[in-house]
Amino acid sequence: MKSHYRAVVIGGGVVGASVLYHLTRFGWSDVALIERAELTAGSTWHAAAGFHAVNADPNVVALQDYTINLYREIEAESGQDIGLHMTGGGNIASDPARWEWLKSAWAVFQSVGIETARLVKPDEIKAICPIVEVTGVLGGLHDSNEGHLDPYGTTHAYAGAAKKRGADIILRNRAVELKARAYGRWDVATEQGTIIAEHVVNTGRLRLVLLQCRHEIRGASLRHAGARQGDAGRWPAGTLHRAAVAVRRRQRGQLSDAQATRDAVRAVGFGTGRGDDVHPCRRLAGRRPQCLLRETDHRYRGVTDGG
Ligand SMILES: Cc1cc2nc3c(=O)[nH]c(=O)nc-3n(C[C@H](O)[C@H](O)[C@H](O)COP(=O)(O)OP(=O)(O)OC[C@H]3O[C@@H](n4cnc5c(N)ncnc54)[C@H](O)[C@@H]3O)c2cc1C
Repeated sequence: MKSHYRAVVIGGGVVGASVLYHLTRFGWSDVALIERAELTAGSTWHAAAGFHAVNADPNVVALQDYTINLYREIEAESGQDIGLHMTGGGNIASDPARWEWLKSAWAVFQSVGIETARLVKPDEIKAICPIVEVTGVLGGLHDSNEGHLDPYGTTHAYAGAAKKRGADIILRNRAVELKARAYGRWDVATEQGTIIAEHVVNTGRLRLVLLQCRHEIRGASLRHAGARQGDAGRWPAGTLHRAAVAVRRRQRGQLSDAQATRDAVRAVGFGTGRGDDVHPCRRLAGRRPQCLLRETDHRYRGVTDGG
């Protein structure tokens, strides 16, 4: 690990590894990725890792199409098998509104240059996938450029290719704080020392905030919610986002400790539904209700601000 980098990426999931790879691809080799544990230690490890380009936003459609077409390239460049299976895939509609939407999705595909997708009639759907019951189905959107892959292999492929292009990958090194310096630089405090970076890309932030929440209410609340300790990585991004918004609003003084705690707790569903979900920390001996966000803020203030 060097003491200075042009860019530091925090988090070694598929997003952090991809960001690192793209920085090197576009010419920045003085870059590093910092991961608190191992690559894919977060949500990425859990993913079924199916992929498609369908999205309501044409820009995301184009981005997803770009990524799908990149997989073979990073596999070849890194030499890492990514377990790519191009099965093809589709969406079907059994009500008029959904059918209209699929037709508009196909039009968006055309507008961004995706030629692998086509609208299909019920008998074609049956021919492609005989186990589908097509009674009442109006039609579908099939794309041969869909499939699934191995998220572990893919993350390692991005990281390996980035490494070949000059990037450093630093594992078992948690980022604990970000401090702004003069001239727009950052002090990235890590368990292995402080790095000065011109740019920081934080891809561990939402999970990072929630992991601290999980730590704080370990045990009782999660069990109450019917969840296991390892489930934090499975929370959907929207849930994590709502909890992180509560943390931010608390930092900006827009919410009190109690209000923000309540919002974050509700977002991640720790409650029992019996009215005692406002302050799960009450169930922890010697803890005050506000401890959850207070400690999260304290420990990660710099990191969450820098995201
Ligand atoms: C069960 C499940 C199924 C899914 N199926 C699909 C699917 O079929 N298709 C699909 O596209 N997506 C799927 N997803 C979503 C997909 O897995 C995530 O969108 C993706 O993995 C997010 O990657 P990430 O890099 O943003 O986050 P993560 O993989 O969570 O990576 C964040 C990393 O940051 C690290 N980190 C956190 N804090 C710090 C710190 N302070 N310092 C250093 N490092 C830190 C963590 O250890 C972690 O490795 C699924 C997710 C789950 C949970």
